[in-house]
Amino acid sequence: MTMTGKTALVTGGSRGIGKAICLELARRGANVVVNYAGNADGAEAVAAACRAMGVQSMTVQANVADSAACSDMVKQVVAQFERLDILVCNAGITRDNLALMIKDEDFDAVLDTNLKGAFYCMKAAYRPMMKQKYGRIVALSSVVGLRGNAGQANYAASKAGLIGMSKSFAKELAGRNVTINLVAPGFIETDMTDALPESAHAALNASVPMGHPGTPVDVANAVCFFAEASSGYITGQVLCVDGGMAV
Ligand code: NAP
Repeated sequence: MTMTGKTALVTGGSRGIGKAICLELARRGANVVVNYAGNADGAEAVAAACRAMGVQSMTVQANVADSAACSDMVKQVVAQFERLDILVCNAGITRDNLALMIKDEDFDAVLDTNLKGAFYCMKAAYRPMMKQKYGRIVALSSVVGLRGNAGQANYAASKAGLIGMSKSFAKELAGRNVTINLVAPGFIETDMTDALPESAHAALNASVPMGHPGTPVDVANAVCFFAEASSGYITGQVLCVDGGMAV
């Protein structure tokens, strides 16, 4: 129970990787705030599973693409728990297409949620974490943000942008014992990848040296490594959880 007494906020915690992160944070003793966009039942089930592990947990609906909603969400967390120790910027979407075919609104939607959404949340957490001289921020990038991917120019831009942005926050907050790191998953089985055609699954598996997809728990373990108090001398780093994909 290395995180007992800590408070964590996970964006997009209602399913997939975010759900696994919430459960692993709770297993380590953290109180967990589960953010979601529309799936209230999923988020409430995750919060109930956290409470069953003996920690406090609540849900907060907020669209991370809305700056004011992110600010209100962080205020709500600090009002309830008196601090925010761990922020996981996990919420993300895809709107895949060949670059030639990506509509302006689909480019904007992906950047608004994946990149600006993380910016709004990190910015909202900046002051409380700076004041308490403690914080662990972890953002979910992607192997696609490191290497690019045909059909994902918008998603790759958002995930690459997240790396540069997080490194900038890391430099600004390093003197305040606030770390910002990133986990870059490869091919992980969730709703996001279930939506891909069978042919894409085969191609993805072939691109993974380990030959199979990872699980949300594989990613959650890496996120929790950065979120631990004991990782306090590590900041601005990107850790791939990808079965060797980016090697
Ligand atoms: P997922 O199964 O599609 O779940 C997405 C989560 O994000 C849901 O909880 C969803 O909430 C939430 N969300 C979406 N838009 C939101 C918004 N505007 N505001 C607040 N929450 C929002 O995705 P996943 O596969 O778990 O992916 C999690 C993260 O890992 C994403 O950032 C993704 O880009 C990244 N990633 C995933 C993979 C992979 O292979 N799966 C690989 C690399 C990186 P609702 O349930 O309420 O809709």
